[in-house]
Amino acid sequence: MRCSTCDAPAVIDQPYRGAHLCASHFRESVEERVRREMHRQLPRFGHGTVAVALSGGKDSGVALTLAHRYFRRRPTVRMVALSVDEGIDGYRAGTLKAARALTDSLGVEHRVVSAEEAIGTTIDRTASNLPGTVPCSFCGVWRRQLLNRAARDVGADALVLGFNLDDLAQTVLMNLVRGDLDRLVRMAPHRVRQPGLVPRVAPLALIPEREVFLYAQLKRIPLDHGECPYAGRAARNLFREVVWQLEEAQPGTRQSLLKTHERLVTRFLAQEASLAAPERCRACGEPAATELCRACEYLEIARTLPSIPETS
Ligand code: SF4
Ligand SMILES: [Zn+2]
Ligand SMILES: [Zn+2]
Repeated sequence: MRCSTCDAPAVIDQPYRGAHLCASHFRESVEERVRREMHRQLPRFGHGTVAVALSGGKDSGVALTLAHRYFRRRPTVRMVALSVDEGIDGYRAGTLKAARALTDSLGVEHRVVSAEEAIGTTIDRTASNLPGTVPCSFCGVWRRQLLNRAARDVGADALVLGFNLDDLAQTVLMNLVRGDLDRLVRMAPHRVRQPGLVPRVAPLALIPEREVFLYAQLKRIPLDHGECPYAGRAARNLFREVVWQLEEAQPGTRQSLLKTHERLVTRFLAQEASLAAPERCRACGEPAATELCRACEYLEIARTLPSIPETS
């Protein structure tokens, strides 16, 4: 395989646009797509604070590296990386180490929020108390809230997330299949600023997962390759498989799902003028769609679960 642009040996094919790229043109193409996406989602952002959610995996590592590159000539923009320690033994420590190696190499401030300290429980404890549960449901909801709080605490004007094209296509399909229009409209990237919610930005929205991985390798971004012990239980796995099969059969499916989402949201927002302002959760005061926010709802479930005694 030869690069479609310069005839050097290609390192990747892009069936969705009928091209092959060498390492140098591939890096350029990723950087240019992310630069354009940053500019589109955060127009005229010249000063302020940008928080970046950093897990220590490839997606957030690439998002931080490219956000840092984007803002490096703007000294009036402060960057802060935020990690959540959900309490997952044998997994999170390694990813946090990789996250710290990256922030040290870029010279970016790094803060770690502990779920144990912030909400008084961990994913390991929740998973062991209710063996039949999908820990990812709790983990995703709590992490989202902790990141939003931490971003607000550092005075962030935007929160950069490492969602790639595959992640977003899967989320669009999941919300469509569940008929969840509210979540579909509220998906990152945010078009409307809502009180109490730091707007979320997804600069990797146009980059397929395997391209994010290759870019991280070519740029030698410090990563932890460990897998979360609960990953196999995620409801998302089915949608990952379906989107992958659709993409194989019909290259460009992921981009089409995102375009469909964009059109739906644009029409919805045009009709509704703006999203309804969120309520405040009666327990924690955070923005919520209902009287009790989902994070507190899940905390109540976790606290009332019977504790399974440890066996020797
Ligand atoms: S795989 Fe699930 S439990 Fe593990 S970190 Fe991800 S969301 Fe949390
Ligand atoms: Zn080339
Ligand atoms: Zn709450």
